[in-house]
Amino acid sequence: MAEFGLIERIRTRTAVDRADVRVGIGDDGAVLSVPAGHDLVVSVDTLVDGVHFPARTDAADVGWKALAVNLSDLAAMGATPAWATLALTLPDGNGTWVDAFADGFAALARESKLALVGGDTTRGPLSITVAVHGFVPEGRALLRSGARVGDRIFVTGTLGDAAAGLACLDARHPRGVEFFNAPAGTREALISRLNRPTPRLAQGLELRDGASAAIDISDGLVADLGHLCAASGVGAVIDASHLPASAALFALFGESERRVLQLCGGDDYELCFTASDLHADALVSALSRTGGGVTCIGRIVEGAGVSVLDENGAEIPLPRRGWDHFSA
Ligand code: ADP
Ligand code: MG
Repeated sequence: MAEFGLIERIRTRTAVDRADVRVGIGDDGAVLSVPAGHDLVVSVDTLVDGVHFPARTDAADVGWKALAVNLSDLAAMGATPAWATLALTLPDGNGTWVDAFADGFAALARESKLALVGGDTTRGPLSITVAVHGFVPEGRALLRSGARVGDRIFVTGTLGDAAAGLACLDARHPRGVEFFNAPAGTREALISRLNRPTPRLAQGLELRDGASAAIDISDGLVADLGHLCAASGVGAVIDASHLPASAALFALFGESERRVLQLCGGDDYELCFTASDLHADALVSALSRTGGGVTCIGRIVEGAGVSVLDENGAEIPLPRRGWDHFSA
């Protein structure tokens, strides 16, 4: 199928009406109006076939995830999503794949009232770049740099599920047969966390009132909390026994495996944030109303880096750092 046919399919399948889109797909550029009194928050992420999703992942899941990982960044900034652009590199003009991809993308775009306003379509190894744009009231964006010594550290949802889902998809995993024979829905629940992450947008909006800093967890808790600490000039102590785990993670992984997944597993797209004692309780109540759960996992301390303690207060050695594309 030709380039313009593909673009037209994407345009029709993802259509979301927004009054602030003066010109959308079809001209040389989109023309967009930012509401008065707001800052524009912009973020971009690329998904490469076989790197950010397993090769042969369902096209609809890839479409959902390409948008979800970006919306997660907006959530971490406390922003409301508005627009996206999509740069698609496709190995061939497979219209069926593009239709399913666009449907997955559109399902989340509609839920988030986000309009796809432009992009680029090229041929090459499968790769998807989405840029998202959102708004925050002027000066109110949540940053990584605001954590202070004594703040409590929280995470939304549960940790380690996506990395566990990836293990379930690994045909050579030594416990692969066990995973297959797990109670119905267990394996699927974990794989769905990997393929269809939920950006915590409602939670991000609540965090604008009272959180001192926030980051989304894409590369693993320890790695991402480490970025937050570095930006804030502080250290963090995590209480491993407080790390939230899903029922599915409990069902398939023992304590030590579970900890590695929760501390270092990527792709969860939960939010990690800090709040002073003064604000923490009100924030927890507000977040509980949005659903999905919120758990206090530790404290911000003086110094640098993230340390993890077991229930006896002994430091747990960390097996490896979070995902880094350029590490040896
Ligand atoms: P140009 O050559 O001026 O860059 P293109 O021919 O690449 O324009 O694209 C035509 C129109 O389609 C533009 O408005 C562009 O933003 C949009 N577009 C191209 N590819 C995509 C895509 N994958 N998703 C959404 N919009 C796209
Ligand atoms: Mg172009």
